[in-house]
Amino acid sequence: MPDTTETPTDEEQHETSTGDPAEGRFETRAIHAGQEPDPQTGAVMPPIHTSSTFAQDAPGEDRGYEYARTGNPTRTVLEENLAALEGAGYGRAFASGMAAINTVLNLLESGDHVVAGDDIYGGTHRLFRQVYEDYDLEFSFVDTTDIDAVSDAVRPATELVWVETPTNPLLRVNNIAALADIAHDTDALCAVDNTFATPYLQRPLEHGADIVSHSLTKYLGGHSDVVGGALVTDDPDLEEQFAFYQNSVGATPDPFGCFLVLRGIKTLPVRLDRHCENAQTLAGRLEDHPDVDRVYYPGLESHPGHDLAARQMDDFGGMVSFELDATLDETATFVSETERFTLAESLGGVESLIEQPATMTHAAIPREQRLAAGLTDGLVRASVGVEHVEDLWTDIERAIETAVA
Ligand SMILES: *Cc1c(COP(=O)(O)O)cnc(C)c1O
Repeated sequence: MPDTTETPTDEEQHETSTGDPAEGRFETRAIHAGQEPDPQTGAVMPPIHTSSTFAQDAPGEDRGYEYARTGNPTRTVLEENLAALEGAGYGRAFASGMAAINTVLNLLESGDHVVAGDDIYGGTHRLFRQVYEDYDLEFSFVDTTDIDAVSDAVRPATELVWVETPTNPLLRVNNIAALADIAHDTDALCAVDNTFATPYLQRPLEHGADIVSHSLTKYLGGHSDVVGGALVTDDPDLEEQFAFYQNSVGATPDPFGCFLVLRGIKTLPVRLDRHCENAQTLAGRLEDHPDVDRVYYPGLESHPGHDLAARQMDDFGGMVSFELDATLDETATFVSETERFTLAESLGGVESLIEQPATMTHAAIPREQRLAAGLTDGLVRASVGVEHVEDLWTDIERAIETAVA
């Protein structure tokens, strides 16, 4: 296990976040990192290489590629780009976010123990409990905003601390540096699912994490038209293992998917600026609305993780959750009444989406347990898109008026 117990200084953080001057700042890297005009044709955009196999000059002498599961030139461009955005040495792309997360679990052996957040993505929870417990891995789910609870959960067999920040759907903010310290004290790895924040707003490796995972399906793809995942790390041993499992398991993305994500990433910074601006505006107005009991948005001073988020993130993201002063049915009517906000699960596209966790993403949780976790009947989760903010606000106001008695 790597020894990376030191947290970077502010100066180092600044250096990492602005990157190698030759590669440019974040916005420039988003467009150019890993991408040169094609030497043969001059094509400015990376070609989509569809070939499943690659000619060898002599037996065993290839030009960097031999078979497309093992490596594909379009995928390489995406992997180099993702590494550059996270300020990492290495990136690996996968067929989905879950395939990327599965690869991290492939590093573990039976008998190993994992400490994970108690409000992680449902699919991750399912993978841990319903797939890997059968392979004799043990999981403890704890409130990772409570650092003492995390320390108490760690055992000698703990090999991985797994967190998301901000979390889903209550947008809790986890302290990456503190969690990485706890993991490293026991020679465990700290992995952060950075899907909600994206590297534009938060780069977990700068805070001491060993592994960053992404669902490329969300903000990085950005247009709700592709499914993909990624892992990035600075550790050459981890990179070697990720490459091994990527090739051995074979959950790799197709070249068309890689191209779509690359195209999405070019506008990540401008999209995220608008997502954040719209989310901040709507969160502020919702907080003042008489039919809204509570708003969860790290950009609000009323949010318990606001100060930490202000230190750890460059802005507060595009996800806003809020509690209507309404019944389960009224809330269901509200999310059905919105028109600009489409009633759908998922997040991170240019279009606004809305959902009711109690009846949709978190419906599998028994009601009592759901309420205890803070997922009330009136809870609504919105992925705020990049439409005009006044159109979004009008839509919300009208739907509340229609739905809430
Ligand atoms: C969507 C999501 C995933 C899973 O990614 P897929 O691309 O759907 O497999 C994992 N983590 C978070 C936080 C997500 O939002």
